Amino acid sequence: MTVDVTKPYDPDNIFAKILRGEIPSKKVYEDEWSYAFYDINAQAKTHILIVPKGAYVSWDDFSTKASAEEIAGFVRAVGKVARDSDLVEPGYRLLANVGHHAGQEVPHLHVHLFGGEPLGPMIA
Ligand code: C5P
Repeated sequence: MTVDVTKPYDPDNIFAKILRGEIPSKKVYEDEWSYAFYDINAQAKTHILIVPKGAYVSWDDFSTKASAEEIAGFVRAVGKVARDSDLVEPGYRLLANVGHHAGQEVPHLHVHLFGGEPLGPMIA
C-alpha cells in the first residue's frame, strides 16, 4: 500500500523502528540528524537509504517543517554517504518517492542512493 502523505506521522512505521533499534539494519552512516543503511531489496549494485532522524512522512513534510539546521544536516549527510561510498566519480542517482503516484511505501522520508554500476536512464 502506498503512503497518504497528508496523514500524520506514524511513530510505529518500519523506519522509525529501525531508528530506535527495534528492527535490525545494515548501518552505513549516522550523525546527529541522519541515519543511512543498505536497502534490503537492492535495485542497484549499491542501494542505500538515507533518512532524517526527525519524524517526517515525506519530502513535502520535511521541506516545510524541518529547521534550516536539520535540512542542511540531512542534505550534507546524503552527500557524505555518496562520497564515502566512492560514488561521486563515476556517479550516482538520488531519488525520493512522495505519495501514491511515486509509489512511496514507507511513511518516513527516505532518499534512495543508487550507484556502483551504470544506472540507465531511470530506476523506478
Ligand atoms: O520509496 P519507497 O517507500 O517505495 O521505498 C521503500 C524502500 O524501503 C524499498 O526499497 C524497500 O526495499 C526498503 N526497505 C528496507 N528495509 C525494510 C523495509 C523496506 O530497506 N525493513
